[in-house]
Amino acid sequence: MKIVCIGRNYADHIAELANERPLEPVIFIKPDSAVLPKEQAFYIPDFSKDVHYEVEVLVKIKKVGKHIHEKFAHRYYDEIGLGIDFTARDLQATLKEKGLPWEKAKGFDGAAVIGQWRPKSTFGDLGNLHFCLKKNGEVVQDGNTQLMLWKIDELIAYVSRYFTLKKGDILFTGTPAGVGRIMANDYLSGMLEGEELFNVKIQ
Ligand code: ZN
Repeated sequence: MKIVCIGRNYADHIAELANERPLEPVIFIKPDSAVLPKEQAFYIPDFSKDVHYEVEVLVKIKKVGKHIHEKFAHRYYDEIGLGIDFTARDLQATLKEKGLPWEKAKGFDGAAVIGQWRPKSTFGDLGNLHFCLKKNGEVVQDGNTQLMLWKIDELIAYVSRYFTLKKGDILFTGTPAGVGRIMANDYLSGMLEGEELFNVKIQ
């Protein structure tokens, strides 16, 4: 199983990191070892002093596909979820500055929180899903899939030009504004359309 992540898919988040608005989606991969085991706390790694949360809508691929046409992309997934793309922002900044790949900053153990899945039929319009992240009970990120630069089906079409998508692969669709640092003893929870799909304790 692989995790394909999209960077810079929300204009407000691009602005807060002072990044350029991309002409094409930014893609990176997390290894399967990055998945935080269910019910386990997240331990801040010793190589970073600035780990950020990024709440993101997730899509689970249900069958193999490559060169998927946007028009048919909806046939490749049935489940939608919510998760966190943990990012060692200090390490990422150093790597970006040197023009090096981000993997160490995004793909380390525990860097992918994957919440519960819901059938996509639960939702009316995937292009209008409200989601948020709460830190210690307060909303710190508040997003809506309306604000995506590239919609889910466009992302699947784009990604599958480069990587064959396989059953069980997970797409992280990018984060809205409001990313921030975590500290030991923080408690994060993620809501999609008003329902909590994950919570995680920081150690
Ligand atoms: Zn992200």
